[in-house]
Amino acid sequence: MSSSVRYPSASLKPHKEESLASGHLWIFSGALQQQPHWIDTGGLVDVKSSTGQFVARGYYNPHTDIAIRILTRNVEEDIDNAFLQRRISSAMALRLAFDVAQTNAYRLIHAEGDGLPGLIVDRYADVLVAQIHTAGMERLRPLLVEVLMQETRACGLLLRNDSQARRREGLQVEEPLVVAGDVPTQVSIRENGIQFLVDPWQGQKTGFFLDQRDKRAALRKYVSGKRVLNCFSYTGGFSVYAALVSQDTHVTSVDVSASAIETAQRIFTLNGLDPKLHSFLTADVFEYLEAAHQSGALFNVVILDPPAFAKTQSARTQALKAYRRLNSLAMQVLQPGGILLSCSCSGVVGLDDVLGVLAQSAQRLSRSIQLLELYTHALDHPINIAMPETGYLKAVFCRVGG
Ligand code: SAH
Repeated sequence: MSSSVRYPSASLKPHKEESLASGHLWIFSGALQQQPHWIDTGGLVDVKSSTGQFVARGYYNPHTDIAIRILTRNVEEDIDNAFLQRRISSAMALRLAFDVAQTNAYRLIHAEGDGLPGLIVDRYADVLVAQIHTAGMERLRPLLVEVLMQETRACGLLLRNDSQARRREGLQVEEPLVVAGDVPTQVSIRENGIQFLVDPWQGQKTGFFLDQRDKRAALRKYVSGKRVLNCFSYTGGFSVYAALVSQDTHVTSVDVSASAIETAQRIFTLNGLDPKLHSFLTADVFEYLEAAHQSGALFNVVILDPPAFAKTQSARTQALKAYRRLNSLAMQVLQPGGILLSCSCSGVVGLDDVLGVLAQSAQRLSRSIQLLELYTHALDHPINIAMPETGYLKAVFCRVGG
């Protein structure tokens, strides 16, 4: 490998290369000696130390606080077809850990976690669904489509560039677009041998919450013969796992999305479960929990998997308040000795925050609480260890006493 291309460069202030040496992939605009106005939005750039040494190669955006995202620290490595091939095949090698006879849906590229900042690719059986979050990755789009299709031999690739976050990068928010092959409106997938239906076009995120696979599996040991309440159920991921454990397990699924609840029922049927033997409610979880508590309803197991309450630091205090309210409400409908699975996918809320919320909620209700199991996401969402930002999910199983 030897670089034949000359890239424009940008220089760092003294000592600003140190965090990159640890594997961090972001350079904030304040770390640059001067804004490199000679580089276009999304253009490739060589990062130099204050003494003029090559540090890394990445792409630049003048519109965002993160000015440069790093693609390689190897001066010999060009950003081309072969580069993408190496990154994608390395990501694919990691996912060989899945037995496809059991699980054929997983995150194939987890952005910075897989060394490809700004890119998410999820695999649903033979279909790929991608999200491009940055201007630099957008520039690589034609190459990416080609290499992804060639390496994965997928039947189709759908681009879901519909996240509002694209605007910050100066990008358009787009309608879903098939950029290779064909992508149906419904894909049938397997997860730990269980069948699910995914709508890659209109489903939330890219269609399915792949990041909860390991927690769904972990839930099974707690639910035999129990009354289970799945709050924020979406299409019933946790619900199906629980209901399949035993015929005398009863599951109540609550979500504000009517279409998600309708799909959850179809997925029950698909797995040989009778949806009529369980409860499905289209409702606001906060309102539902208030009403359930008033009516004296009690469950043995409660799952809380809410959407991100805080997307920014400034929203964090409000979010913690909402998490406290939610967890307190959940504990009120939990039988003494019951199991609570409490999740947070807000990046700005840490594990300590989640544990604090649980402790405070229990204390407020004079309930004891034991921490049983802690999870983040599974191996298909690898965390760049130098970048805690690449991990966002906290999931805590606990037992709430009387
Ligand atoms: N646990 C799910 C994923 C949950 S994602 C799974 O394993 O697949 C969060 C879900 O919360 C979404 O389905 C969204 O429709 C729902 N939601 C958001 N706000 C809500 C509210 N206030 N009440 C009920 N559901 C809500």
